[in-house]
Amino acid sequence: MITKPLHKCLSKWIEIDLDQLKRNISLIKDFIKPALYCLPIKANAYGHGIVEIAKAADGVDYLAVSSLEEGIALREANIEKPILILGAFLKEQIESLIDYKLEFSVSSIYKLKLIEKILAQTTKKALVHLKIEVGMQRVGARPQTGLEIFQQIQHSPNVLLKGIYSHLSHSEEQDQEVIENQIEIFKSFIAQIDRQGIICHLLNSGNILNPFCERFDMVRVGLLSFGFFEKPLKNELSEIKSFFSLKSRITYFKVVDEGCGISYGHSYKTDKRSRFVTIPIGYGDGYRRDLSNKGEVLIRGKRFPIRGNICMDQLLVEIGDGEAYVGDEVVLIGKQEAEEITVDELAKHCNTIPYEILCGFNQRVQRLYLE
Ligand SMILES: *Cc1c(COP(=O)(O)O)cnc(C)c1O
Repeated sequence: MITKPLHKCLSKWIEIDLDQLKRNISLIKDFIKPALYCLPIKANAYGHGIVEIAKAADGVDYLAVSSLEEGIALREANIEKPILILGAFLKEQIESLIDYKLEFSVSSIYKLKLIEKILAQTTKKALVHLKIEVGMQRVGARPQTGLEIFQQIQHSPNVLLKGIYSHLSHSEEQDQEVIENQIEIFKSFIAQIDRQGIICHLLNSGNILNPFCERFDMVRVGLLSFGFFEKPLKNELSEIKSFFSLKSRITYFKVVDEGCGISYGHSYKTDKRSRFVTIPIGYGDGYRRDLSNKGEVLIRGKRFPIRGNICMDQLLVEIGDGEAYVGDEVVLIGKQEAEEITVDELAKHCNTIPYEILCGFNQRVQRLYLE
């Protein structure tokens, strides 16, 4: 964490308002109850900082990450909540998964046997979730095989079945039929077994908002917890907000003549004598190069366009007749006075989804946590 005076030295930073995270969590918790709340914080908590988000997310029941490495990072930061590893594991990772008390996903008889073999020489226990295939074809046992895995776990005293889950391939309302078919596969699977003491979970953010989706015992709410959503939120959820801002400062000012090319390759040419400022952030930080000649920034509450190609460490903004001075704060994502630039806006320019924009900001940009 960075203290306030040091903050003044930063030329670019991401501001994270942990109070808003807590408000989002409490709203979602009320909305999903009695289902348990699993917060996926893979990919550095969608760019927000994995350890800080885990520490602030007191209200949730479970955390989920994608890999052993992310799980270890959390345990080494003394996070004691149950942690589910969503991806498939490698044989070499089994011992660490067990030693760090990470819950991991089993989706084949072969993998279950590998776990049993390692446990046979110890008194340790493995905590697992059985992952069923319903339509992603990514990781998951076909229901028939799932049943065999389930039965075999019943005979393995050292393998504890904590959960059974799957993941839907769609979440848009117009895909209701596809979604309902996949839910049905999951439902018929769990109908065949004794679910007592086993957490069944299926839905992600998009699908908890679909009224036709059954929630089972737990839901995995990533994107919505971070305050991002596709369609407007109603009533009790309408206070959910993003709490991620990307900021920088003007480091240089210049006047450029008419007909001048701007930045690498001169992809922009001035049509009149104009005024430009340089901002010390670029694709080397995760501010995507696709935003060249498309993105905008906020300075003194006004929008100004990015001109020319975004460089690795810097970009250029045309301020024209606008007011701006070296040292002024620049908002690339977030609010300034009445104006706002959203992650959605960036994602649209980059022809991608908000998830990819958020995950793209790397460690070169310091995170500053506000409480
Ligand atoms: C990332 C992930 C989630 C969370 O999805 P959101 O759309 O961010 O809510 C849930 N389940 C699995 C298996 C995931 O990989």
